Amino acid sequence: MAAQILPMPGIKAPSTPIGHFVRLGETGHRQLSDLHAQGRFSPKRVVVDASRFHHQKELIGALRSAGTQIVLDTKAAELSAASKFSGFAQGAPWASAAKDKPLSPDHFRHDAPGDVIGQIARFAVQNRVHAVLSPSHFLSKGSATDWFRIDLRACCALREALDRAGGRHIGIDYLVLIPHVALDDLAERGQILASVKNLPFDNLWIRASGFGADSGPLTTRRYINSLSRMNNLGKPIVADYLGGLVSLAAEAFGSISGFAEGVGERERFDAREWHKSPKPRDDDDVFGHARRVTIAGFGRTVTCAELAKLCEAKGGRRLVACTNRSCCPHGLSDVLVNPKRHSLNYRSIQIRSLEQTPDLSRPQHFLDGEMTRADRLSRQIKELKTGDDLLTKRLTDHSHRMEKLRATLEHFQETRGANHPRALPIVERGNVAEHQGADSA
Ligand SMILES: [Zn+2]
Repeated sequence: MAAQILPMPGIKAPSTPIGHFVRLGETGHRQLSDLHAQGRFSPKRVVVDASRFHHQKELIGALRSAGTQIVLDTKAAELSAASKFSGFAQGAPWASAAKDKPLSPDHFRHDAPGDVIGQIARFAVQNRVHAVLSPSHFLSKGSATDWFRIDLRACCALREALDRAGGRHIGIDYLVLIPHVALDDLAERGQILASVKNLPFDNLWIRASGFGADSGPLTTRRYINSLSRMNNLGKPIVADYLGGLVSLAAEAFGSISGFAEGVGERERFDAREWHKSPKPRDDDDVFGHARRVTIAGFGRTVTCAELAKLCEAKGGRRLVACTNRSCCPHGLSDVLVNPKRHSLNYRSIQIRSLEQTPDLSRPQHFLDGEMTRADRLSRQIKELKTGDDLLTKRLTDHSHRMEKLRATLEHFQETRGANHPRALPIVERGNVAEHQGADSA
């Protein structure tokens, strides 16, 4: 008689939840409000810029009531940067502490003029956020940057200020903004990890400058490898301003606990020009940007105009229009009318699929699924005859990038072995209402 193999009861391969944070961004929150009202935008976690908090208050309130965790971005980095301080960041309540100048290191001491840290803490308590990103700055020279010491102290000062203001239940996540190449340096990583180790924070956020959704294969591989090594710290790691396939890859390979991105924006970060004088109408480029839309399984976004051209090409519509009837019942026209809804839907499908896969199977699941799909679809789309040479060139470049990214990550998976630390699950915060009054007791 053949032996019957029964599944072992109660033993399940671990599948760590993915800490996905949606950055509400500077604009477009009305669309998100409508989607929330229609039951189509119910994120577990959002990041709100202090500079836009008052404009987005209604949406934030509705999300909080629905159980969404609210994380406050203080905009400290932008407010201290020559090219950024006079832009959108000016809307942060503490922007005026420097009077038409960037905020200086002096503003981030616990006894600083304008009491910036105290203002942040009181704002966080009044607005019932769940967590605050520590007010840190772009480390252009890595840990040797003067700001680094100031930021480390500011994190402790913020903890004290929150406790004083009745916000003991509000968490702090430590934010490191750093050139992506600095992360590849073993000594540099060691210095950062040793310096933040004993600070009062829950999750470590990394916003890597010069890196993002459109980065090259080798850079992506290095990034995944370097962040994986940072898990020795024993704190969950969130990749900030990271979207596209790259964030999914880093998540699948277990090097990050989660990632934060906007809806069709804030998928990459670049602070290399932050020290220069502001360009006219800089403002994070939001208004100057054409609206971008997601093509499911393609591995990059396109502008609405590009999508229309691809659809007009022979055989194009079949490849690029949304075929998910519960997402876009009228296909392409729905994608163009409401690109945010379509992007959010597709993103949640991708994340759910990865989340339902056991941790150890995730790299292969990503390579065989999303990565293979993007490689295949980008080959097909680049063959479309759009009559636009520049567009064809962009599509061809993208297809080559997908091909190389796939080969690079497959090689990485084959060669990296099993001896690497895995990212911990994100530290989640409870319901704010539960804590109300707790601090004054
Ligand atoms: Zn759709």
